[in-house]
Amino acid sequence: MSLPATTETQPEIQPADRPENIRPKIGFVSLGCPKNLVDSEVMMGLLHSAGGELIASAEDAEILVVNTCSFIDSAKQESVNTILEMARHKQANGGRAQRLVVAGCLVERYRDEIRKNIPEVDAVVGTGELEQILNAAGLVPKQAQSSNPLFNILPPDHNASTLVSRAPSAVHQHSHPTEQGAQLQHEQQKEIGEIKSVILSEGTAEVEGSAVSEARKSAGALHLDSEMWVSQDTKPSRPEGNLREQQGRFSREAWDGATAALPEYLYSDETPRILATPRASAYIKIAEGCDHPCSFCIIPQLRGKFRSRRLSSIVAEAEKLIAQGVREITLIGQDTTCYGEDLGLTDGLAQLLEALAVLPGLKWLRFLYTYPNKVTTRLLETMAKHDNIAKYLDVPLQHASASVLKRMKRGGNARIFLNLIEKARRIVPGIVIRTSFIVGFPGETAEDYKELEAFIKAAKIDWLGVFTYSDEEGAKAFELDAALKVPERTIQARRRKLMKLQQKISAKAKAEWVGREVDLLVEGESEETELLWEGRTIQHAPEIDGKVFINDFGPHEELLPGTFYRAEITEAHDYDVVARIIE
Ligand code: SF4
Repeated sequence: MSLPATTETQPEIQPADRPENIRPKIGFVSLGCPKNLVDSEVMMGLLHSAGGELIASAEDAEILVVNTCSFIDSAKQESVNTILEMARHKQANGGRAQRLVVAGCLVERYRDEIRKNIPEVDAVVGTGELEQILNAAGLVPKQAQSSNPLFNILPPDHNASTLVSRAPSAVHQHSHPTEQGAQLQHEQQKEIGEIKSVILSEGTAEVEGSAVSEARKSAGALHLDSEMWVSQDTKPSRPEGNLREQQGRFSREAWDGATAALPEYLYSDETPRILATPRASAYIKIAEGCDHPCSFCIIPQLRGKFRSRRLSSIVAEAEKLIAQGVREITLIGQDTTCYGEDLGLTDGLAQLLEALAVLPGLKWLRFLYTYPNKVTTRLLETMAKHDNIAKYLDVPLQHASASVLKRMKRGGNARIFLNLIEKARRIVPGIVIRTSFIVGFPGETAEDYKELEAFIKAAKIDWLGVFTYSDEEGAKAFELDAALKVPERTIQARRRKLMKLQQKISAKAKAEWVGREVDLLVEGESEETELLWEGRTIQHAPEIDGKVFINDFGPHEELLPGTFYRAEITEAHDYDVVARIIE
């Protein structure tokens, strides 16, 4: 992908030029998936700890940071557009910003290209160098002053989703089926236009500074996740990862402008972090990187080998989050079901869930991004055992035809997947399943597609997303014979058909919700209309599933975002339901 060039580089902000008591104003834009959002939260925490003031307006920011996504072409384009949009706020263009930093996956893929083609960019920060954000922004670390490095800078009555600018990107391609495809492009453009409302609220709370890496290193704190990972002669790893490394899975040789070194960073419970999610909810990234060989995916080259955070560090982080008022924790990673394998744990995710589920104050606990053949009986039994673990399985299956799955280098087939779903429903009664599929993978025949359709009819998935295949340079599928490539029109037609099919399945399933009493986490006024409010049940993961609209506050004059209420489902639509508050 070629990156467009624009105007000239700006002078750098030198920390020494700035009086101690004047805090540089920083605007932050976060693109991509929740895993990238956690990276943004860590970088914002580091910047805040070093004296930066995070603000909501790009126009007023002196330093702008764009944390990019590079998952698929549309995500890359969106990242570039956002960088260019932010570049317009630089002084040379009549704006106020003096410094523009680009971070994230796009940097891992196009490090040199970004600097070369967009000269307004002053510094780049890869996914493995989050602590370099301070140098990149021209700030210096400060000494630790707080025992809790987690900050929630949003006022209690604020719904963060109205403040945080999250572009749709790859993550939303997995989401609401009606919002995909043709509409996606339009919405991306629309949201890029609105990107000026950068992440974060203006009401930045005064929070005491916290430790950054220099302070921690000087204190000899060798227990931190990342340091454990990089300080050992033999790094913890999974045998599969080592084998794939020998086979070249992580090689970036063909990538002009990328460094050969893979990211190895892991944050820890002691890393400063600012929460940008609604007050009651937070993500915890339990692992980073991926060892799987999926032929359509370049995440392993971008994010490096699979590596788990220590279990005790994750539990410590969860405790700190709960002390901050978080009641819902969502565990994420490229593949959460591999958790702990590199540390010698068996059924590591189940062990981690056991340790977290008993924490007082944690009302909902869930995990996303599982790999089908790693969903074990013990994991399902652990879900069934604890009331506060969501009966929710996010298992991207990608396809149902054995021949397509083989070319995808994932394995499995419709029968194996149906057995898995049946087993999950048997061991965890009432479980909802989320999955995503890719249509139009090279070589997908009409028969393969029919098999996928038949699978969806049989499996009756609760939440389903459909990706359309797109060629990614650097992915193995890119090299497949051109004759195998499926015409774009066929790909789009297959996506539309699947969506229609799922719409019927979903509408029928949602109709069964009517009359149910549920716990509802209220998130705030609806983004679609100010006449309604929105919330989620434990069976709705943040950001990706259908919605619960609230049209009746019941005994309450007003509702408080981030609070749990008892509600009754009164109406059902294709994907969403309507509820009235009863307690
Ligand atoms: S499991 Fe497959 S699709 Fe998911 S990040 Fe790893 S390689 Fe990519």
